[in-house]
Formats: sequence, C-alpha cells, structure tokens
Amino acid sequence: MAKVYLGLGTNLGDKEANLRTAIYKLQERIGKLVSLSSFYETAPWGFESSNSFLNAAICLETQLAPLELLHATQEIEKELGRTKKSVNGVYSDRLIDIDILLYDDLVLQTPELTIPHPLMTERDFVMKPLVEIAGKVMHPVQKKALSALYKA
Ligand code: ADP
Ligand code: MG
Repeated sequence: MAKVYLGLGTNLGDKEANLRTAIYKLQERIGKLVSLSSFYETAPWGFESSNSFLNAAICLETQLAPLELLHATQEIEKELGRTKKSVNGVYSDRLIDIDILLYDDLVLQTPELTIPHPLMTERDFVMKPLVEIAGKVMHPVQKKALSALYKA
C-alpha cells in the first residue's frame, strides 16, 4: 500500500461540487481516504482569469502503481469535463485539475510523470492545503518537513 497526496483545483462552474465529485471518484477508484484538507479559495496563478480557484489536498492509500494512479486521475479529470490540457506550461481555466504531489518517499522522473510534483513547494495554493494534512511529512528531495518548506 502506498500513501499518496494529491492536489485538487477547480475554477469553473460549481467549484465545491467539482471537488466533492472528484473526491468521491478518487475514493472509489484509488483507495481509502486517509485525510482531506479544507477547501481554500485562491487567486488564479500563472494566467489571467476572473475566476478564482478552489483548492484542496487529499491523502489516500492505494495499491495502484504511480502510472496507473496518473491514468486513473486523468480519467476522472476527463469525466468531470476537463477537455483542455495546459500547453507549454500555459495555464487555463479548468473544471478540475488533479496533480500527484507525493507517492510515499518515491522520487520519479519520466516524460509522463514527475514525483514529487516539481512545482509544488513554489505554489502556495498547493502547499497551504497540503500542510494542513501533511505538515510533518518529509519532502523526499528537499529533505525537510512540508511545514518548514511552506514557511521558508
Ligand atoms: P497542470 O497541472 O500543470 O496545469 P496538466 O494537468 O494539463 O497541467 O498536466 C500536464 C501533464 O503533466 C500531464 O499530461 C502529466 O503527464 C504531466 N505530469 C507530470 N508529473 C505530474 C504529476 N506529478 N501529477 C500530474 N501530472 C503530471
Ligand atoms: Mg495537472
């Protein structure tokens, strides 16, 4: 069993419903829910939009391998109506974005999947909910507790 932390974000439609639907599907397909953060309203980051985001972090126990996990989360993104991908790091409005932040202590770098998520510690909208549920967890590359990395 692996313990995985995922970051969720939405800035379109009924945002709270989008998060709740995603969380329901994640529990059904990925594994048992260990913890869930509060929902945080945040300003759009990296692009211009009048739609604010609602962000959350979730911890699940899973039997899925990292790439199986990615494909399962991408399937849920599609079902929730996400059509566009970010292109060349350019962000756009989205019904749901599910990012894999941590997978146990795994460090993985492939064209399709990088774990830990490479930008997580630079993004307050990821770290704020994550620190609420995983402040004491160590970042496997930066070798510091997440709460220390958030304040830093
Ligand atoms: P973003 O989340 O940066 O807005 P997307 O959700 O469109 O962008 O994802 C772009 C690609 O990032 C995906 O196709 C996926 O293969 C890749 N990716 C690499 N590492 C991760 C990760 N840790 N979690 C989620 N996607 C990842
Ligand atoms: Mg994503």
